[in-house]
Amino acid sequence: MIEIKTFTFNPFAENTYVLHDTESLEAVIIDPGCYEKAEQEQLHQYISSHNLKVSKLLNTHCHIDHVLGNAWVKERYGVKLYVHAADEATLKSVEAYAPAYGFARYTPAQADEQLKEGENISLGNSALEVLFVPGHAPGHVAFYHAGQQFCINGDCLFNGSIGRTDLPGGDFDTLIRSIKEKLFSLPDNTVVYCGHGPSTTIGQEKKFNPFCKI
Ligand SMILES: [Zn+2]
Repeated sequence: MIEIKTFTFNPFAENTYVLHDTESLEAVIIDPGCYEKAEQEQLHQYISSHNLKVSKLLNTHCHIDHVLGNAWVKERYGVKLYVHAADEATLKSVEAYAPAYGFARYTPAQADEQLKEGENISLGNSALEVLFVPGHAPGHVAFYHAGQQFCINGDCLFNGSIGRTDLPGGDFDTLIRSIKEKLFSLPDNTVVYCGHGPSTTIGQEKKFNPFCKI
């Protein structure tokens, strides 16, 4: 059984997720947005108090608000960073624009492993399936768990909205196609955990999301 913990970090109110297998206590950290020391401590407090063994660092995509804590997590837990190859340029570009966004202390971290469409990322006795859902960012992925019917979907689909597509590498038609072809083919009761704001379900967004009317 996988347990999901959400933290909301940094001025962008970005959702950072810690998923762990309740039997083995293996954990993965997805999109660590922690920047301030207090945020790092909050994340570490959860991990240490639950005796979790962090095995991987995963990014849904590499916009600044999702990667601010990458270097700290890699160093603190000695783990590798997994991103999709098509978002490595997005990751590399952060260093150049971070000071302009007010993050002068941003420490860059290199990707170590590539995430590929359809691959399974092991998590204890369980696994997460990688879905390639570009549009908000060129190498955006989501992590789907069919058994427990949830999807960590980053900034692709939001509760009542969708990710912006005006940033470099963004494309509206590609995003809509990703949502309709990949996410909307998941079961309606799949819980969708978003990069910002509250979670939702596939069924709810199919019915009410104004950007995705079929
Ligand atoms: Zn983003």
